[in-house]
Amino acid sequence: MTDDIRLQMGLRPIINASGTMTSLGASIVVPEAVAAVAAALRQFIEIGDLQKRASATIARLTGGEAGFVTASCAAAITLSVAATMTGDDRAAIERLPDTRRLSRDEVVIQSGHMVGYGAPVDQGIRLAGAKPVPVGQATSAEGWQLAGAITERTAAALYVVSHHVVQYGQMPLGEFIEVAHARGVPVIVDAASEYDLRGFLAAGADLALYSSHKFLGGPTGGIVAGRKDLVRAAYLQNNGIGRGMKVGKEGIVGTIAALEAWERRDHHGIRARERAALGLWQETLEPFAGVAPVIEPDPTGNPLDRLRVAVDPSAAHITAWDLADGLGRGARPVIVRDHEVEHGYFYLDPCNLHPGQAEIVAERLNEELEIARRSNTVIATDLTERRRRRARSTWPD
Ligand SMILES: *Cc1c(COP(=O)(O)O)cnc(C)c1O
Repeated sequence: MTDDIRLQMGLRPIINASGTMTSLGASIVVPEAVAAVAAALRQFIEIGDLQKRASATIARLTGGEAGFVTASCAAAITLSVAATMTGDDRAAIERLPDTRRLSRDEVVIQSGHMVGYGAPVDQGIRLAGAKPVPVGQATSAEGWQLAGAITERTAAALYVVSHHVVQYGQMPLGEFIEVAHARGVPVIVDAASEYDLRGFLAAGADLALYSSHKFLGGPTGGIVAGRKDLVRAAYLQNNGIGRGMKVGKEGIVGTIAALEAWERRDHHGIRARERAALGLWQETLEPFAGVAPVIEPDPTGNPLDRLRVAVDPSAAHITAWDLADGLGRGARPVIVRDHEVEHGYFYLDPCNLHPGQAEIVAERLNEELEIARRSNTVIATDLTERRRRRARSTWPD
């Protein structure tokens, strides 16, 4: 009997070279959080007190006044928006998502930040009953456009930090905060995947939101951190729209443990292991004609590099997407980061590997590229058809 839960359940034993993807199970939960979750599951715990304990840990790590744990960063967005509309008015909290008697129910957000991370960011605003007000155009947003979008009905300004957002023409956070604060509007920063736990609040954001299950290596959860009055107002939503976004004791305990482990984590050692993986993959790929592996830094400045693998189909005998798909098949499937693959490249992300897996990834690269090298024709499936196939959902069949 295997001890791999995936094989026990008839699932594929994938290796994750794509980064922190919720659809692949997010991240490897750190041992401290695994132990805390296991210990908590068998106990009764007073949740309000546990959330006070979480608040102290979140405050210490983020520099915010207070914090709490919710189901996910997506939940944190909705609860934070709700907080800016209702404050701690319990009756207003119970009336949400009906905002008719509230004086403020609009949320300004740069158009280039209205992206999807698996669900639309603006839907997270609408779920609270608020109305998203786009600022500027997808590839340009200026301070005067933000100022012009703010009215007496503006409850909050939402800023998204992510590789998903448009990476140019957007307002820097400092300018965004300056314009919003000059008009008395609180700023919420969605920093779901950002390693920087202190910088956004230090820059003046009123609330900063994180995922527990991404870089932190916690169980599924979300973190709200920042101004005490807003954190409290967001927390109180748990007796309203937050009920369906409830986190359990295991999520709270696991998040606390992951945060405390983050403080003690050997960040330099991890970086060195990640660099070694990138070096190994680069060495593996270099002999193959038409394959150009280049190390690139993370686009939002996280201390993380990835290997960009550009594939010239005529020389490599395979397209980038067929190589990505090939790697993802077979007995040792490797899932790569392929959301820009139509440009002829994908990324290998080293941040979620178990010991020994970097070597397996290298072997798989070698296997698939050897098959292509020996192929008499270029392995090139139709990209449009691939898009259609991937967009189709037949679940649960
Ligand atoms: C992942 C992500 C989210 C959602 O986080 P969850 O905790 O998985 O709900 C929100 N915003 C951004 C920018 C993300 O990357």
